[in-house]
Amino acid sequence: MTNPELIDRLIVEASQAADWRSGCAREGYLPLFNNFGQVSYLSPAGDLLIDDLEDGPLRPADPGERDFALARAAENYPELTDLRPSRPQFATTCELCRGGGKVKLSQGAIVPWQGDNETRPFLYCPGCNSLGWTVTVAS
Ligand SMILES: [Zn+2]
Repeated sequence: MTNPELIDRLIVEASQAADWRSGCAREGYLPLFNNFGQVSYLSPAGDLLIDDLEDGPLRPADPGERDFALARAAENYPELTDLRPSRPQFATTCELCRGGGKVKLSQGAIVPWQGDNETRPFLYCPGCNSLGWTVTVAS
């Protein structure tokens, strides 16, 4: 659950921030992450919205985008750590990133990112939306 007053306060802070967030400020929405121009927003009511173009129309996030945006919210806003999706008991560790949530490209292959000693930049793992785990629905 989100705290509307907290989100409202963070929206004001973000609109005055010295980083990318002030450039993506929107009345009534908190910018969570700028993914190469696709910006995710959180409303005070807890809705996740996506702007695919700069200043384009907002659309609802799909479930994968929602997980990704909430994980970024937890990273970018210490007050929103609780929003990070929690790992269900029956989840399995993502094989692509081995649970780290980050990967890199190495000789044309996607391999887990090794952490702070890594010389290559990381990419957020596309296999698990950066969560490090996946839930497989039995078919
Ligand atoms: Zn992964």
